Amino acid sequence: MTDCVFCDIVAGLSPAARVYEDDAVVAFLDIRPLARGHTLVVPRIHSSGLADLDAPSADAVFSAGRRIAGALRRSSIGADGVNLLVNDGRAAMQTVFHHHMHVVPRWNGDKLRFAAQLLTRRPHELDEVARVVREALAHGN
Ligand code: AMP
Ligand code: ZN
Repeated sequence: MTDCVFCDIVAGLSPAARVYEDDAVVAFLDIRPLARGHTLVVPRIHSSGLADLDAPSADAVFSAGRRIAGALRRSSIGADGVNLLVNDGRAAMQTVFHHHMHVVPRWNGDKLRFAAQLLTRRPHELDEVARVVREALAHGN
């Protein structure tokens, strides 16, 4: 184990509901999701934030985020829209200091449900949701 929870997940030392991985990034479901299917994309190489993030990792994170956004729309999760979000720095509400991008599915008219979930952030059957997203990724780019 290291002192970084996302490095531990990347190394397979900590559990996570993985949905996607390639040479540069690993993506897994957020343990306290803002919505069903809320995914985090993290570079394999540790950087604490945007300032020390290498350019190829930055490209790979965005590219994976784009693909996962498509999967969240195509799959039975059925998102109508997606927020891609990076919190960079404590002032911006970053709490895990290993750079990551949030991929958050949104639905038409979900504002109230979204606001309620901001307060509760309960996990939704992570393994089942991860399976659905993986399957959609296998059938699209
Ligand atoms: P941020 O505020 O952008 O730093 O968000 C960090 C996110 O990481 C939060 O949404 C947490 O719920 C999520 N998180 C923290 N630890 C884990 C973990 N072990 N597995 C999955 N997600 C995590
Ligand atoms: Zn790390």
